[in-house]
Amino acid sequence: MKLRFSVLFLTASLLALAADGAAPAGGLDTASMNKSVDPCVDFYQYACGSWIARNPIPADRPRYARFTELQERNERVLLDILQGAAAERSGRSPLDQKIGDAYAACMDTAAIEKRGVAPVKPELDRIAAISGNDSLIEELVRLQNMGVPAIMMFGAQPDAKDSTKTIATLSQGGLSLPDRDYYLKTDPKSIETRDRYVKHIQAMFQLAGDSPELAATKAHYVLDFETALASASTDRVSMRDPNKRYHVMTKAELSALTGPTVDWANYFKLAGAPAFESLNVTTPEYFKTLAANRPGDLDHWKAYFTYHLLRARATELPAAFEKESFDFWQRYLTGAREQRPRSMRCVQTVDRGLGDLLGEKYVQVAFGGDAKTQITQLVENLEKAMGQDIRNLPWMTDETKKAALAKLAAITNNVGVPQKWRDYSKVAIARDDFFGNVERLAEFQRSRNLEKIGTVTDKSEWAMTPPTVNAFYSPQYNSINFPAGILQSPFFDPRRDMAINYGAVGAVIGHEMTHGFDDQGRKFDGAGNLRDWWSPADAAEFEKRAACVANEYSGFTAVDDVKLNGRLTLGENTADNGGIRVAYMAMENALKGKKDKVDGFTPEQRFFLGYAQIWCENATPQSERQQALTNPHSPGRYRVSGVLQNMPEFQQAFSCKASQPMVSTNACRVW
Ligand SMILES: [Zn+2]
Repeated sequence: MKLRFSVLFLTASLLALAADGAAPAGGLDTASMNKSVDPCVDFYQYACGSWIARNPIPADRPRYARFTELQERNERVLLDILQGAAAERSGRSPLDQKIGDAYAACMDTAAIEKRGVAPVKPELDRIAAISGNDSLIEELVRLQNMGVPAIMMFGAQPDAKDSTKTIATLSQGGLSLPDRDYYLKTDPKSIETRDRYVKHIQAMFQLAGDSPELAATKAHYVLDFETALASASTDRVSMRDPNKRYHVMTKAELSALTGPTVDWANYFKLAGAPAFESLNVTTPEYFKTLAANRPGDLDHWKAYFTYHLLRARATELPAAFEKESFDFWQRYLTGAREQRPRSMRCVQTVDRGLGDLLGEKYVQVAFGGDAKTQITQLVENLEKAMGQDIRNLPWMTDETKKAALAKLAAITNNVGVPQKWRDYSKVAIARDDFFGNVERLAEFQRSRNLEKIGTVTDKSEWAMTPPTVNAFYSPQYNSINFPAGILQSPFFDPRRDMAINYGAVGAVIGHEMTHGFDDQGRKFDGAGNLRDWWSPADAAEFEKRAACVANEYSGFTAVDDVKLNGRLTLGENTADNGGIRVAYMAMENALKGKKDKVDGFTPEQRFFLGYAQIWCENATPQSERQQALTNPHSPGRYRVSGVLQNMPEFQQAFSCKASQPMVSTNACRVW
């Protein structure tokens, strides 16, 4: 009875949410527009101006966007599910027990405060007792198995050149600040950030029981140590090139690379990895450099391990740790002023740890009707349009077009939910042990990953949980994936005018499809293998056209003196530009010449408004800065203007003149 009641309650609250501020069924969201702005001068303000004015950044957020708006609606649904599942009663299903108790344990702050640092104490003692190479490697493996990202990443990944095989992979890692450049740049802002970072580390050590003097010394050790890792690391833009990340070698070759200081055989054995002969070392230079110039003495290593442990576990420790972490990582670096409510943080914790269980419940209440059928149809229409687009490309030879069309035909479409749900039956979740739950879940994920080494790649794996407001393309699976969480208003509304859906979710689908053909994706074939299927002339023409996009976005200012990095954001911008074109073509096919106006707008105008309105956002300057330095996506306003100023179809729809800002004098086009 209780379960049925809770489902009814959820359905009711979901309907209430849909009514909440959403555009009327079938109509355009004119309430978000600022019609006093000329669409040919600033289309982003024209489409989003009122939304931007109406939605200041909440105190607990660094940015607030249409994505965030929908995320909040999804989180309220998840909260209902979790509160229902957490209510203690007889006969709870095993699924409800797991997600309900995980949530209840996270909410039990009295128990967390009472335990203090006790849960982390045994590990701190182990770190303090490290006395030489063997105990150091042992502790490194322990931390990594607990999900603490120290020094490097070791795990299973599909072989880039044979995606059917999953192989061991070793990568650079172990930094805390958002990018290697944060350690290496010498401008005043970077220096200030490092000063603040050291003060934060010191505060964390003091919370764990160190004197201020010792804590300060150790904080400097951590910064020195991480700076050494940063210097050895390859930069973010280079890491985007899949060829630069592919260095398959035998274990003997790895040992020869780093010399005898690292006992790899012991490391792999301790990690619990299945036996293997060769592995991909994504950045050989990193391991060579670190082995040759070992960063610091044992005290440096201990300080580094300790801080990383405290940082990774701050949310499961007493509030003082969480607050200190928030003050640096969120308040200082992103500009958020308050923590999100505990209940919402706990929703996220359960989504992260038990995402498929929670997702299974979520789609029961939030992904019904024929949404899946409609989206699948849209995807098929866009695939047809992309085929047209490729066949009509003026710059590509027939031979390369044939290979591109074969890759397009091979794309797998996943809509709403993963092909199979993850099995969490091996993980015990206790209502009174938040720290232990998080640790057991991290260990579960870790061993689940390592077990895949040497196996046939399971291409049904999903990288996102069903309630996530996002979508992704996987180059190695050659799949496009749309979690149920994003298949809602303002992205998709089955009752809404088709032109707006094509502009919104259609452009998202086109974006993911185009990722298969952006500067990274184009290097993989239809089977998901890193293989060059381009004629040299076509490849050169692609690079020339991509350089136009890179230059265009490098000219955009993110905040103050910080510009976007056109090379970092190239893949995303290529996907934005190609995606909207494909969506536009699909819409024109579907309209079959019908050009009825709705709310005074032609279908083409509604299409572009639908597109622009998914990108409305407000962001703090701190967040704009961090995003520009680290995020491969451009800010919302450039995802609108950067794309539309390249499109004659847009200029025609709004009768823009050649001299106006929304018309580029040097329009770029790849796809
Ligand atoms: Zn993307």
